[in-house]
Amino acid sequence: MWLPVRPADEEDIRAVHTDIHLQRVLTASLDGGGYLDADTFTNSASYDAAMMAAGAVQAGVDAVLSGECRRAFALVRPPGHHATPGRAMGFCLFNNVAVGARYAQRVYGLQRIFIVDWDVHHGNGTQDIFYTDPDVFFFSVHQYLSTTGELFYPGTGQWVEIGFGPGQGTTANVPLPAGMNDAVYRQIWHLILIPLLRRWQPELILISAGYDAHWRDPLANIHLSIAGFGHLARRLIQVADELGAPVVATLEGGYDLEALALGVLSTIRAMQGAPLPVDPLGTPASTPPTLDVLALLDRIRAAHGV
Ligand SMILES: [Zn+2]
Repeated sequence: MWLPVRPADEEDIRAVHTDIHLQRVLTASLDGGGYLDADTFTNSASYDAAMMAAGAVQAGVDAVLSGECRRAFALVRPPGHHATPGRAMGFCLFNNVAVGARYAQRVYGLQRIFIVDWDVHHGNGTQDIFYTDPDVFFFSVHQYLSTTGELFYPGTGQWVEIGFGPGQGTTANVPLPAGMNDAVYRQIWHLILIPLLRRWQPELILISAGYDAHWRDPLANIHLSIAGFGHLARRLIQVADELGAPVVATLEGGYDLEALALGVLSTIRAMQGAPLPVDPLGTPASTPPTLDVLALLDRIRAAHGV
């Protein structure tokens, strides 16, 4: 079923972003567009598109929390997870998933929201927004190092970043080297994500669903397959069902268009409980998890007590 969508209200954007940021995005569009940072370009339609993207996540939240359906996927662009309270970044104007979470708190009074960010880049904006919030758990698995061992965009998301003040312990980061594959992500789900979800007992699960961790993606170096994405989504949905939590996914990155389309399809099929799509792109030859990575997972588990 397709849900009707309307743009977010400025008030909902201001629940996440500064008014200065909101006005900057609006002014850029009114002026015909331009660069907001080195790689975030806007045109005259960008403000409306960004308001509609945030509104789409709100529509998904409304649909699952009113009982109209159990799961929704906001097929939006621009993406949102790099947008911080005060600035646009990394193709992101407004932080759509954060707008959805704040909206669910305000309108439905939710007290335990869990955000899963499987985009290949760290969701630095989402982390910033909820870093001291004890009611929103933010989990991100991402590429942290490039193939040559340098910091990978945006350069944040070390495992020691676990939240601060009242939000201490409500942020979990899994920073990976290049080349990690389906098997590593399955381990991360099994050892870290699923135990965290069971402990948090979320009333709502939001997914920042990027598909740039696919092995064919031109912007990153993680080796997930379409079958791997499907499996991860299916496990997450199974646990959401076990916990009675509705799920809203929102599209983030993904720059190999075929992998993006198939990845989205695999998530939607998992949400429907339908058979996963055949993976015509296959699985690359890749190395099994190294001892270093297994040790990293152990440190993260110890930091979070799971
Ligand atoms: Zn990304």
